Amino acid sequence: MGQFASYSRRGAVGFITVDNPPVNALSIGVRKGIVECLTEAAADAEAKAVVLICAGRTFIAGADITEFNRPLEEPDLNAVIAALEDCPKPVIAAIHGTALGGGLETALGCHYRCAAPSAQVGLPEVKLGIIPGAGGTQRLPRVAGVKAALEIITSGDPIPAAKAHALGIVDEVIDEKLDGAAAFAEKVIAEGRPCLRIRDLDDRLADAKSNPGMFDEFRKAVAQSKRGFEAPQHGINAVEAAVNLPFDKGLEREREIFGEALFSTQSFAQRHIFFAERQVTKIPDIPKDQATLPIKSAAVIGAGTMGGGIAMNFANAGIPVVLIDSTQELLDKGLGIIKKNYAGTVAKGKLTQEKMDQRMGLITPALGYDTIKNVDIVVEAVFEEMDIKREVFKKLDAACKPEAILATNTSTLDVNEIASSTSRPEKVIGLHFFSPANVMKLLEIVRAAKTSKETLATALALAKTIKKVGVVVGVCDGFVGNRMVAGYVREAMFLLEEGATPQQVDKALYDFGFPMGPLQMSDLAGLDIGWRIRKRQAATRPKDERYCEIGDKLCEQGRYGQKTGAGFYKYEPGNRTPIPDPEVEALCVAESKAKGIARRAISDEEIVKRCVYPLINEGARILDEGIALRAGDIDIIYIYGYGFPVFRGGPMFCADSAGIDAVYKDICAFHAEHGKLWEPAPLLERMAKEGKTFTMG
Ligand code: NAD
Repeated sequence: MGQFASYSRRGAVGFITVDNPPVNALSIGVRKGIVECLTEAAADAEAKAVVLICAGRTFIAGADITEFNRPLEEPDLNAVIAALEDCPKPVIAAIHGTALGGGLETALGCHYRCAAPSAQVGLPEVKLGIIPGAGGTQRLPRVAGVKAALEIITSGDPIPAAKAHALGIVDEVIDEKLDGAAAFAEKVIAEGRPCLRIRDLDDRLADAKSNPGMFDEFRKAVAQSKRGFEAPQHGINAVEAAVNLPFDKGLEREREIFGEALFSTQSFAQRHIFFAERQVTKIPDIPKDQATLPIKSAAVIGAGTMGGGIAMNFANAGIPVVLIDSTQELLDKGLGIIKKNYAGTVAKGKLTQEKMDQRMGLITPALGYDTIKNVDIVVEAVFEEMDIKREVFKKLDAACKPEAILATNTSTLDVNEIASSTSRPEKVIGLHFFSPANVMKLLEIVRAAKTSKETLATALALAKTIKKVGVVVGVCDGFVGNRMVAGYVREAMFLLEEGATPQQVDKALYDFGFPMGPLQMSDLAGLDIGWRIRKRQAATRPKDERYCEIGDKLCEQGRYGQKTGAGFYKYEPGNRTPIPDPEVEALCVAESKAKGIARRAISDEEIVKRCVYPLINEGARILDEGIALRAGDIDIIYIYGYGFPVFRGGPMFCADSAGIDAVYKDICAFHAEHGKLWEPAPLLERMAKEGKTFTMG
């Protein structure tokens, strides 16, 4: 027995109660406990059936993933499941909360399953780059059918109890956890139901046996929907083995595939991201019990591209928000776009009209600051001009209650300077949303010199409330994400001068796993944004620094990207598909000629290194300067803000998996060839010499 599981009995029903807070993870203590309790239950002459149930808020929520990197202690989960299957009395899993991964596999090892209506079940292993490794891929198709099993295993998404019941994964939906499970167990006893082992059921495999082509069809679909990910494909192979091999052979095949996946770079990358995401909220000098301010009302200044999206975030979370702009016309325009956005979601069936009306009702347009005296937070999203921002903050400082937090959505400006225009710099913080602000999950939380711990902790809590991944960063030009991306886009343009076409550059990075390449991304964001920044920097740019004029020349022709129907590509009206443009290729050739650069064939490998390594190099500087707290934070920023492929673990993890020494040497070679923009970051050099890594300890 022990502390992780205990045996008890009520009438004819024995109960094995797992108790391993907080989520009853399947650590070694739980595995041993279940096996020991099963022996006790089998020996208990009064017990005619056994219920496996969990204390606390959930059934076994999954494996103990901290055990992944250690040698496994016996019994492993397969042995626990074998013990459940071999129990001479019917064993019933009583599911509440979530039964995920190993939790569902354990339940599938029981002879029957009952679940609370609010329970969810699933096999989320693909999200860690692996597949279920304790029979999940062999047992699930035998109860749910092959198609449903493929969907559950390749998506990793949980399904609710009602659906699990309809699919046959759960035998009965029960109301009250303990009494409901006992009643179901008594029914099993009364009806004399047998010890039904899923491994012995083959009926639901029949469809797939007669239609073997379904696996290839599924592979093709998943190759698109989960582009670049290996684990979903492994999952399909394992389910195919369930159909084609006898159960024990299928189990062996699953084990082999699981082992292969577990030690793959992709799985290490995905596990790194899983842990990094849980780390981001941990700020070394902010205690866990740091008091935060309640955010019950908000205001957004500026009803433009960003302001509208930011206001939607508050409304979506049920927080009333005042939206302010300088004229009624601009307010109407901003609200019109918000309305159109919500209506689009309603049309797709993802939001009810009633919810849309509720949300619109939470957004109050206003022209002056009179109505925001009592709001808890203001997010400023006006034009990117320091003088305008200082003026707005001065007015906000005078208009808002002293406790209110004043946040700025600036992308590049100095948050310390903005804070200094108020009498409450401790209440000023950067909340850097990404466009479209109602969609993108990333929120850079910019901690300025005087930002208080309370303000920072409140911003982190707010990020969670509005369902963003908040990452704390320091003040510098561009913060973490945009500061790093400058080198990524810069090299993409240099490659155009050296011999590549926009479509070749973009395809190499798309194939690497980005949703789109840097030039297509620039077209989407608007080329005028970078143009304006470059014009501002022109006066201070060293004369001997390499500079590509292609982006500027496109803007001079009015080619601002998608919004003007042309940029690095052409676009048909109303269509976002980029069309390669011979005029742009001619411009690239002319620029090479003007600069005296001999155009050459450039490999995809070089394109990827030239664009991704500046991210790593600048990331190393950012870490050295303390602008980001951890390499994992940078990786999270890149995954949620820029679509960096999750299966590559973010730029810093990528450096580790390629080998810091190798990356450093390549950067040195680029430095020798392309000049000082490639100067290796001192931290990278130190790490290469000391054999250290960013993310692997
Ligand atoms: P935008 O031009 O679309 O919107 C700015 C809005 O602010 C306009 O509606 C304008 O009328 C209003 N405004 C200007 N001065 C005002 C004032 N004094 N009082 C009230 N309203 C005023 O610009 P945007 O793209 O939404 O950018 C806003 C801010 O967000 C900028 O600081 C920008 O750097 C930052 N940002 C932009 C993006 C992006 O991708 N567009 C991403 C992150 C951050």
